[in-house]
Amino acid sequence: MTFPHDFSMTIDGRAAPADGHFDVINPATERAFASAPECSRAQLDEAVASARAAFPVWAATPMETRRKCVHALGQLLIDNAETLMAVLTMEQGKPHREARMEVSGSGMRLQAIATQDLPTLHADDGAGRLFETRHMPLGVVGAIVPWNFPLALAVFKLGPALLTGNTVILKPSPFTPLTTLAMGELARAVLPPGVFNVVSGGDALGPWITAHQGIDKITFTGSTQTGRRVMESAALTLKRVTLELGGNDAAIVLPDADVRKLAEQLFWSAFTNNGQLCIATKRLYIHDAIYRPLTTELAELARTVKVGDGAQPGTQLGPINNRPQYQRVLGLLQDIRDSGYTVLAGGGPAPAPGYFVPVTLVDDPPDASRIVREEQFGPVLPLLRFSDIDDAIARANASEFGLGGSVWSADEDRAAAVARRLDTGSVFINGLPRLSAFAPFAGRKQSGVGIEGGIEGMLEFTSPQTVFRNRPTG
Ligand code: NAD
Repeated sequence: MTFPHDFSMTIDGRAAPADGHFDVINPATERAFASAPECSRAQLDEAVASARAAFPVWAATPMETRRKCVHALGQLLIDNAETLMAVLTMEQGKPHREARMEVSGSGMRLQAIATQDLPTLHADDGAGRLFETRHMPLGVVGAIVPWNFPLALAVFKLGPALLTGNTVILKPSPFTPLTTLAMGELARAVLPPGVFNVVSGGDALGPWITAHQGIDKITFTGSTQTGRRVMESAALTLKRVTLELGGNDAAIVLPDADVRKLAEQLFWSAFTNNGQLCIATKRLYIHDAIYRPLTTELAELARTVKVGDGAQPGTQLGPINNRPQYQRVLGLLQDIRDSGYTVLAGGGPAPAPGYFVPVTLVDDPPDASRIVREEQFGPVLPLLRFSDIDDAIARANASEFGLGGSVWSADEDRAAAVARRLDTGSVFINGLPRLSAFAPFAGRKQSGVGIEGGIEGMLEFTSPQTVFRNRPTG
């Protein structure tokens, strides 16, 4: 695959010509650099019909064949990483290095998923019967993803959905449709027609998918606000839903943490992808004993990190992905200024063009401030002082969200004891927030419904069927 390229939707294993197109903006320049097809309602119906027609054959295809197909799609992403990463940087903004990691990592994730198996239960009910429980695919899955990690978040859904025997209709965010469309184009060579469809469009398309009578399950990643709408719409047809939503993850740094050793990792735990990561550190609680040395180190990193166009060599942080999110982050910066909080680095927006925001560290704002309570999803981090660990845990847990968190200490057992008291689905000790294909990832409270990853995540694409038979006598 090469770029420039006319990106097309994939419906029934073929390119689907669109009547309309919409611009895709490079957030580093604010200029349109490509266009994406606008899916019509009739085309969504075609995609659903194609996915429904393909389902019985795909569901009956041996697991080993499906495994090979998912692995092969992963390999295609890895083989085309150089082209895809350049497109990903242009549509998302992240630096080439991170974009390359996202593309290859998505390929590797598909290959890791392809090694997994569904459990089958054989048992005796103790009342004269034997039974066998198998996990059967649901049918057609509608997958809806956001713009921060377009490919990675898509494959978290696509891999297990396909492996378990479902067919898929995938919709990327209108801000980042291109790499996902490209994945659909590549998949035509390794998946039967109808098994994997990719459609792109504006604000109407998501609600059409969640309401569609021919779709059996919605797997959604995005904001909590949209997640509620998705669940409401899916309820009308009783679709199964998995919702991976927002977070406001707390990092707790214990007094024995080695400031010099951990400062850089802590920095990146918050600012990877410019803070546009659901499990990024979004509140940083630091013990009083090391508060000043650590915040001084972090401020130095914030001042020296290279922010710019992700396509330029040496760039470490790109722009915010899109104008609405940029304006949201600017609104938070304005609130910080209006409230008179002290900033240790950053503050105002960087000069245009480009949705650039300098890394901003806020010195111990009140717990009730917007920057502590809200999910910022941008490079602005509140640094919060504590002196009592019970108090820090209570403050960390005092959030409507329950996605992830982290604990930092010279003693990992001590950190693990704190981790178990956090009311979140994942906790990282002394390291960057990174998920695994083999571990379940589940948001608590307003961070989601259901599970992605691991066997538990695969099971979300299935429904159990139990066959009872009489135990042979004699
Ligand atoms: P968003 O909710 O605005 O959009 C997500 C997707 O939903 C997009 O494809 C969008 O087009 C679509 N959509 C919008 N309205 C819809 C509707 N009514 N019905 C169906 N689909 C609709 O989210 P965003 O701004 O793209 O992403 C940022 C959010 O995603 C943050 O809150 C972040 O924390 C969250 N996120 C969560 C995870 C996780 O795994 N928990 C991972 C990444 C991002």
